[in-house]
Amino acid sequence: MHIPNLQHNIVLAPYTTFKIGGPARYFVVVKTKEELFYALAEARRTKTPWVILGGGSDVLVSDAGFPGLVIKSELRHVAVNEGNAQVRAESGVRMSGLITQTMKHELTGLEYAIGVPASVGGAVWANLGARGRQMQEFVLEVTVINEQGEEQILYNAQCQFGYRDSIFKHKKFVIIDVLLQLARGNQAKIKEEMQQLVTLRKDTQDIAAKCAGCVFRNPKDQTDIPAAKLIDDLGLKGFSIGGAQVSPLHANFIINTGTATAQDVVMLISYIKQQVRDNAGIQLMEEIEYIGF
Ligand SMILES: Cc1cc2nc3c(=O)[nH]c(=O)nc-3n(C[C@H](O)[C@H](O)[C@H](O)COP(=O)(O)OP(=O)(O)OC[C@H]3O[C@@H](n4cnc5c(N)ncnc54)[C@H](O)[C@@H]3O)c2cc1C
Repeated sequence: MHIPNLQHNIVLAPYTTFKIGGPARYFVVVKTKEELFYALAEARRTKTPWVILGGGSDVLVSDAGFPGLVIKSELRHVAVNEGNAQVRAESGVRMSGLITQTMKHELTGLEYAIGVPASVGGAVWANLGARGRQMQEFVLEVTVINEQGEEQILYNAQCQFGYRDSIFKHKKFVIIDVLLQLARGNQAKIKEEMQQLVTLRKDTQDIAAKCAGCVFRNPKDQTDIPAAKLIDDLGLKGFSIGGAQVSPLHANFIINTGTATAQDVVMLISYIKQQVRDNAGIQLMEEIEYIGF
């Protein structure tokens, strides 16, 4: 495979918020659309399996790593149009940076996601949601590289957004950038709201811990009871297998206490699923994405 700046056998743990995972056979950081196109074309040409990584905050990478090409998106360009309150952000832009930037332009909307270590691409992929808001409210269009390797624009309705869901979870589209419609706001008010949300997150979630946020989707099709409550009701907060622990603060978070392997996390996930199934008759499903399993 011939890709400029291609690296070999790069351990993925540091590129994930879980801080878990073995090596990628090939690893490349892409900073421009052209580099992204090139890396994907090379992977296709050589029939090498590939995966895109953004903030690494919703993935569990196997201990064996990934036997293909990991493409880390660091496309970081942002264009703000104050006049129509629209923002075009590339997929590797960090959501926290984007929120701060839009606040400075007195544009409001995205601050609900403050404190989430997501990239813009990952946020659209997951339809990142919190406090009753989701990315889909703001997305006008998403520019992707489609499964044929061509550039394509998907408008909001084509993105098939749902609860923690989008077309990007089902098709191998690679997000280049996103056009967002925000609203005009007041900088001081946005800042105040952001500070309140950060405090709330710190009080209720392990945002500084090695973790991937909520591990399970809320089983809305089976019950209105959130996954965290189902797990908490079974007294599993603090329960651990190896170095993986159910967060004592938020039962839907699994924490790497320092030495967790992906195998520890997988065993803990399967234990939790079995306990919830046996005691509450509900089948939990993972929200996190497995890489290299
Ligand atoms: C402390 C903490 C708090 C969290 N709180 C929330 C929360 O409140 N709400 C919520 O919804 N989630 C939350 N999460 C989960 C996570 O941050 C989100 O799902 C986020 O959107 C994932 O973005 P990412 O860039 O880290 O994606 P990654 O983990 O890098 O990747 C996740 C998936 O997205 C794909 N992907 C990434 N970039 C692209 C791209 N450019 N094109 C195509 N596919 C791509 C990857 O291939 C992978 O399959 C939290 C996580 C943590 C660690």
